Amino acid sequence: MNAAPKFGPAFTLESADAASLDQLRHQAMGCTRCELYKNATQMVFGEGSQKAEIVLVGEQPGDKEDTAGRPFVGPAGRLLDICLKEAGLDRSRCYVTNAVKHFKFEPRGKRRLHSKPNAGEIQRCSWWLGAEVKIVRPKLVIALGATALYSLLGTKVKLTSERGRILTPADHPPVLVTIHPSFLLRIRDLGDGEQQRAHFVADLHRAVQYQGN
Ligand code: SF4
Repeated sequence: MNAAPKFGPAFTLESADAASLDQLRHQAMGCTRCELYKNATQMVFGEGSQKAEIVLVGEQPGDKEDTAGRPFVGPAGRLLDICLKEAGLDRSRCYVTNAVKHFKFEPRGKRRLHSKPNAGEIQRCSWWLGAEVKIVRPKLVIALGATALYSLLGTKVKLTSERGRILTPADHPPVLVTIHPSFLLRIRDLGDGEQQRAHFVADLHRAVQYQGN
């Protein structure tokens, strides 16, 4: 494992208190901690076993997830499933969630375009993510992208310089840093896309190696 830099949280990493994921989900359903609940269809909570050894954290639900009420069921989720399989990870044995639980978007005619959650929204919603991680107590958390990383660490860290590393923040399970799969969907060049995808699979494979330690 790489030596871990020290990251002091820039915002207080407080979290909800619940005995189980079911109880936590029930609490989060009525959440009004930020404004995002107002326009989304529903709150999209994490999914998977409370005994999972790996927790995967994305950014926020997209259009498909908002409608389905489940995380990572859209195009990025399908790509994530394929890459997890290639890396030797079984999604059904992971707990999958997002840093922000309501879909943030800009309406464009009939379409709803993804809009990045701001620092305040991420901080507010870390109340739920922190509690999910505390309840599951995984061996490893995989941060898929900068938003997840910010929410987990409580401080902004440059993703490109930490990518592929396993960070060990105080009082927190280790965090493997990688990109969000939606990044791969935005690459237009075929060769670059293949290269970036292979890099992502290699990042995920670090989790398999770590589990084996
Ligand atoms: S995005 Fe998170 S903090 Fe904001 S209302 Fe939804 S659940 Fe609450």
